[in-house]
Amino acid sequence: MLDRIKHYTSHCANLGLNPVPQSYVNGAFVDGTGQPITLEDPYTRTVLATYNDCGAEIANTACVASEEAQKSWMTDFTAAGRGVVMQKIATIVEERLEILAQLETAVSGKPIRDCRVEVSKVAEIFRYYAGYADKLHGEVIPVPSGHLNYTLREPLGVIFQITPWNAPVFTAAWQIAPAIACGNGVVLKPSELTPSTSLALGAICVEAGVPAGLVNILAGLGPTAGEAAIAHDAVRKVVFVGSPATGRIVATSSGKALKPVVLELGGKSANIVFEDADLEAACRGAQAAIFATAGQSCVAGSRLLVQASIKDKFLRMVADGMKQLAVGDPLSEDTEIGPISNRRQFDHVTSMIGKAADDGATVIASDDAFGDALVVPPTILADLPPSSDAAQNEIFGPVVTALTFEDEADAVRIANSTDFGLAGAVWTNNVSLAHRMAAKVRAGTFWVNGYKAIHVSTPFGGSRSSGFGRSSGMDVLMEYTEPKSVWVETSEVPRVAFGYAPSE
Ligand code: NAD
Repeated sequence: MLDRIKHYTSHCANLGLNPVPQSYVNGAFVDGTGQPITLEDPYTRTVLATYNDCGAEIANTACVASEEAQKSWMTDFTAAGRGVVMQKIATIVEERLEILAQLETAVSGKPIRDCRVEVSKVAEIFRYYAGYADKLHGEVIPVPSGHLNYTLREPLGVIFQITPWNAPVFTAAWQIAPAIACGNGVVLKPSELTPSTSLALGAICVEAGVPAGLVNILAGLGPTAGEAAIAHDAVRKVVFVGSPATGRIVATSSGKALKPVVLELGGKSANIVFEDADLEAACRGAQAAIFATAGQSCVAGSRLLVQASIKDKFLRMVADGMKQLAVGDPLSEDTEIGPISNRRQFDHVTSMIGKAADDGATVIASDDAFGDALVVPPTILADLPPSSDAAQNEIFGPVVTALTFEDEADAVRIANSTDFGLAGAVWTNNVSLAHRMAAKVRAGTFWVNGYKAIHVSTPFGGSRSSGFGRSSGMDVLMEYTEPKSVWVETSEVPRVAFGYAPSE
């Protein structure tokens, strides 16, 4: 097995990062001085680094730097010029794809094959929004007076973005690229458990030519650095990606500071299989929906709803298939399922499985042993009611709760019986039924005969406990800009309806 510390430090060095994470503020790396934070490889349990929380002071410095740099981004660059710089960011990411992917795997424990895909998407995201940089403009509105009325679509200023540990550099790009394409500055706080690739991306943005300070990355904790940035006067909007519990805290703090907030939260998505579906395709889809990335995906198909008439047959197929998945070392080229990314999450997943067993679940899982590695083998929890804890709350691991339904109405009722509304899918060969399900299931993203297709060009987001607002697609451009309405009097005799104008 590779020496994990050597592997980690060499990839940090190749990206110009100190192995002891620092924050990236105003184009330079700075040490934190707060509480110590430990990065642990979740597979070998090797401690990779211990660093200090950046705290409120560095967060405040980053907000001020971003406010200054944002002015330069809007005045020293043309709109097309901003797009050119963003294309360059994409090119550098592509050149360093393998190093970034290796570093992501080292810190997060996500299989290397998945990290390569995610880093390639980082480049794709920057290219996509680079194209919008010079295509954002207002409109002329035919108001019922002699005025020329037009709108300017203006950036908000500084956006504070908070991201989780499950897809670190992908989520950072997903948030940073549209924000800067719209002319904003960014302060981004990745999860304290996976800061490395986001730090590298921040430095790449400046290397590509954005003004130093336009993109700042905070290596630190939510209650200190996060809360300080939310409260900072320069910050005009908060975008949070993470759990519903923290989302509530962030929304409350943002509300107190009268700042708009976008929340991209968790899910408990229903993957619904009707008896007429192509069961082989649905079986593969059910595994991809929940076991890929060890279930640590907000859109995971964590509730498998199977029509009662095919329940036994279909669950047997899924169970047989899942036992063939390659589980193990995330740095191995063959691995399909790696460890849970961190100890806290591992404890949550294993305690949810234990509680489900206590609640009467039939637990189907391989009994492979993984020693101290934070690995949870793919698991099916069957024979639980839809109201049970394991069927209602996010497990965020390779654990699917299998439920049964009788007919279409029953499937819709169960699918909509949680407080989430992020994603969902249906498997059927009945096209009318497929469209009815797409209309009736509460979800921001819905798939027919597939799962997990996601692309930067299409909107993404949820409702209720899955959050509000949209990331990606054209819709996010509205989140990161606001219109200004300009009225120009064009009548020969100006029609000011009030006031007196004594002759000069
Ligand atoms: P989390 O809520 O624990 O942490 C998310 C981020 O919030 C971290 O950066 C953390 O440091 C920060 N934070 C914590 N307290 C804060 C505070 N008081 N102020 C500001 N920031 C604070 O989530 P997690 O465990 O890192 O990630 C898993 C969750 O993320 C799951 O619920 C998953 O569904 C969700 N998620 C959602 C999406 C989506 O797009 N909807 C995508 C990925 C993950």
